[in-house]
Amino acid sequence: MATLGIPQNTIAVLQKYNFSFQKKFGQNFLIDTHVLEKIISSADVTKEDFVLEIGPGIGTMTQYLAEHARKVVAVEIDKALIPILEDTLKDYDNVRVINEDILKVDINKLALEENNGQPIKVVANLPYYITTPIIMGLFESHVPISSITVMVQKEVADRMQVGPGTKDYGALSLAVQYYAKPEIVANVPPNCFMPRPNVGSAVIRLTRHEKPPVLVKDEKLMFRLIRASFNQRRKTLTNGLNNASDLSFSKEEVAQALEKMELSPTIRGEALTLEQFAKLSDLLVTVHAECVQ
Ligand code: SAM
Repeated sequence: MATLGIPQNTIAVLQKYNFSFQKKFGQNFLIDTHVLEKIISSADVTKEDFVLEIGPGIGTMTQYLAEHARKVVAVEIDKALIPILEDTLKDYDNVRVINEDILKVDINKLALEENNGQPIKVVANLPYYITTPIIMGLFESHVPISSITVMVQKEVADRMQVGPGTKDYGALSLAVQYYAKPEIVANVPPNCFMPRPNVGSAVIRLTRHEKPPVLVKDEKLMFRLIRASFNQRRKTLTNGLNNASDLSFSKEEVAQALEKMELSPTIRGEALTLEQFAKLSDLLVTVHAECVQ
């Protein structure tokens, strides 16, 4: 039975193994059974599912996942946690622990081996120092995924969910919303973790779109435009895109594209929706195509 979510049990395991927390790995272990149950129910894990857990810690959430899923693979970077996981997960025959940096794991290969290449579910209390590279890596490498349900810093969860006209809107919002439908399912205060983080947290569920909500001719160009716009957030789009080192559009070309979209030449990127970035990208991709003809 999953029992580590009770603080005394976590403390007992940490003492038994004389474990010291490593700040550099973003180690804040969950010690609240209600939060754990909320994550499992929001992730909608069933006995059909293959689940990838990133950063199992001492195995607190892994135990819950093992009870609900067909198979769990948990990837943990800290080798000091491996003997602990062998102990806390010894009663489960459907869990495999991999001692590796998640950013170095070939998740496509894992999904193929463990789930016949069918969509997997990702569930994690993420290490906050690499939340964005983990989530963007999962989407951009086109791993077959049905949903990602993760604990992240509250502020990052907000950024994933918002639209134009808010201070939190940025490249992460647009990228996440291109690939998935974001939904904050719980706000979690610092006292649900050991040790307590300095920030508030939230559980967010990202349900992968079957088809992206916008059609764009060149996805890579659209994301380069998005990144360039928010790198220079206070600049107009015309100047921001012209200044970007990895783009080669003149101010006139950008202004002409904006005019075709009936947008002001002094508009800033932060005012554009995903649909508008897709449209802008399609107009600018034609400019380049015409140059090379
Ligand atoms: N899942 C556990 C829980 O909820 O109690 C621990 C969550 S803790 C916030 C993040 C975990 O991710 C830690 O166990 C940490 O060692 C691990 N971690 C940090 N960086 C990692 C990486 N690059 N690859 C895999 N695991 C990592």
